[in-house]
Order: sequence, then structure tokens, then C-alpha cells
Amino acid sequence: MTAAPHVARTTGDGRREANAATVLRTVLDHGPVARRTIAELSGLSPAAVSRQCTDLVRLGLVRELPELVESSGVGRPQIPVDLHTGAAEGPVAGGVHIGVPGSTFGLLDLRGRLLARGALPHDGIAPGDLSHRILGALRTFLADANPGRRLLGVGAALGGWVDPGLGTAVRHDALGWHQRPLAAELARGLGGLEVRIDNHARAIAQSEILFGRPAARRSLVHLFVGNVVDAALGIAGVVHQGPGSGAGDVAHLPVPDSTAVCPCGRSGCLEATASNTAVGLTAVRRGIVPDPDAFLVVDAAAAGDRRADRLLRERARAVGRATALLLDVLNPDLVVVTEHSSLLNPDYLEEIRGAAIDLSHVCRDPERIVSPHAGMAVLPVAAGTILLNPLFKSPLAAFGG
Ligand SMILES: [Zn+2]
Repeated sequence: MTAAPHVARTTGDGRREANAATVLRTVLDHGPVARRTIAELSGLSPAAVSRQCTDLVRLGLVRELPELVESSGVGRPQIPVDLHTGAAEGPVAGGVHIGVPGSTFGLLDLRGRLLARGALPHDGIAPGDLSHRILGALRTFLADANPGRRLLGVGAALGGWVDPGLGTAVRHDALGWHQRPLAAELARGLGGLEVRIDNHARAIAQSEILFGRPAARRSLVHLFVGNVVDAALGIAGVVHQGPGSGAGDVAHLPVPDSTAVCPCGRSGCLEATASNTAVGLTAVRRGIVPDPDAFLVVDAAAAGDRRADRLLRERARAVGRATALLLDVLNPDLVVVTEHSSLLNPDYLEEIRGAAIDLSHVCRDPERIVSPHAGMAVLPVAAGTILLNPLFKSPLAAFGG
């Protein structure tokens, strides 16, 4: 982890940074776009927009597109600008999602689009070797996937309690990581590259705000249902961290009608009811699959196994009931649900929506409950967003401009 090298020192620098961020966000939302239009959309003066565009072009974040100029014959032609992306040019960000069964790697452009992906299954890797093996596979992936483009750094997302400010995995019980200085370890292993880490539920929420639906910028709750179950809250474009960045632990949220026994001693907790681990164990008990693996259950349902389908619908309804609680407590514009079966098959998203609308006292609109915009690429895209988000917030500081 490296600190931002140039912190704005004066009001003037602060304004310049804020203006640069505004221009960059406007180009993200509307590019390719003429400078004059950026001024209209952002409320900045044409002179300020022009100055910021010059800076952003110099930093390699924005490029001019003279080939798109239309000659109307009136006034001076306006050369549109866009984010610096393209088939073989523009800077890129790396991402790694560290899950329990495996790690996923991705390479993103400035629009958060996945250019390449890779994976490392964790089967057979001793817990003590895990971070070392992830680092080796990540290094290989970045070398193979990125021949020659400018690599801005790497974002790493994982479950559990993560402190992004300190770059520490505070507590991840399933991986056995406690107070682990993960960002510094990865940065060192990647030759001093900038590395930022965050909880994966917050990272996905951030990627919805930056690259997803417009409503996500007003307010959203993101619910992550994997081997761990956690959540994140975003309001007015900012993902809530909370003291010690511990916010978002919904593992023990009570699910109405659930009797699943939880390690915490109670029953009916969300994680004990709906996690991949819980679904895998139930599937073995019911004789649906030989091993306790939720992905096998999803495969079986896709192949037409009706018992597998029924189990996934039960899980979807439990997730929907938890979603109803979150809707009633927080009333967000959007609830984004990351859950594997509903990413693959929209029928399960409909099941989640149905249960949520049945139980919610405030939400009548099922369209407020959605899957992540990146679909099956959600994990690597979210991981890369951890690196890209500070860049969109403070482009000059992030680039030493
Ligand atoms: Zn519990």
C-alpha cells in the first residue's frame, strides 16, 4: 500500500482536484463528449473544463477523439474527449478477489470493463501457503494478460472484516487471517505496485456506484451471499465504512421462518440459512450432490434436477426475506444482491424479488432489487474498482498531477 504522494495542500489545489474529479466523472458518464457539453453538464466554466481536460489528457486518463468531429460549418469544431480506453491502449487496473474456494483475477480498463480474467482454485493449498500461492498466480496473470499497457495498481477484495485505510485483513475466520497486513504483503510481492484492499461487499457496492445504474449513486444496499454473507451501504455515492470499517456484518440477521442452527448459538441467522456452505450441506443431506458444494447444486439445477432447483428457490426466498428487512430498515433506492444462482438464471432473482415484496412494508417495486451490473464478472470487476475508485475521486493526487 502506498499513500497518495501529493495531498492537496491549499484551497486552490483542493478546488483544482475537485474540478478534475468532476470532469473525469462527467466523461465517464457521457463520453465521448465535447468540452462545451462537459461545462453544461457539470456547471463548471468552459475555461476550467478546458484546463482540467488538458491535465487529464497529460496524465493519460482522458484522450481526444479528433476522428469524431462533425463539421457543422458553424463556429469552431469541438474535439470530443473520452476516457483513455481502447483495444490495446489506455491504463489498466488489476483486481483479485480472494474467496474461500478460490481466487479470481481480472484486468480492467478505466470504464471498469473486464479485459481478461484468470482463476486459482484453492483446493489442496495448505493455509500457510495460500497468500504466497495467490501472489504467484496473480503475478503470472498480470504478466500474461497485460502486455505493455500501463498498470495503475491492483485492488484486492475479500470477505470478512477488512480495514482499507490500514490495508489490513482484520478478521477472516474461514481463511484463518487475523490482523494480516495484506495490502503491504501484496505490494511487496508485486514489486512496489500500488495495492488497495477492501471488503468484497463494499467493493461491489462501490463498483455499482461508479459503473452501474444511476439509482445506485443515490442510495443502495448490497447483499453478498457466498460462503460468507455480508452487506454494504452506499449513500449519495459514498460507501459507508463505520468505526474500524467493521460495518456490514449481516451474517446473524434473523431470517423470518428459518430454523437453521448457527454457530453463534441462535437459530435462523442469515449466514447459517443461506450461505453457499449451508446450501451445500443441505444438498448432501438431501442426496442431491455427493459433496457439499453449492456450485454443484447450481449445475444440477441447470441440468434439470428439480430437487436442486427447489433448494435454490428455498435459498432465494430466504435471501428475499432478509432483503425485505434491509429494505424496511434503510429504504435504499436499490438493493443489489450478489448470489451465484441468480447471476446465472434470472428465475432465482425473481424468487428473491417475490419473497422481498411479499414481506416488505415499504417496497412495492420488484425492480428495486437487482443483480450486479457486471453479471458473472462481478468479483474481478469489484476488486479492480477498489483501485480505480480513489482515482476517480482524486485523479491529480492519485497521479501526482
Ligand atoms: Zn448466528
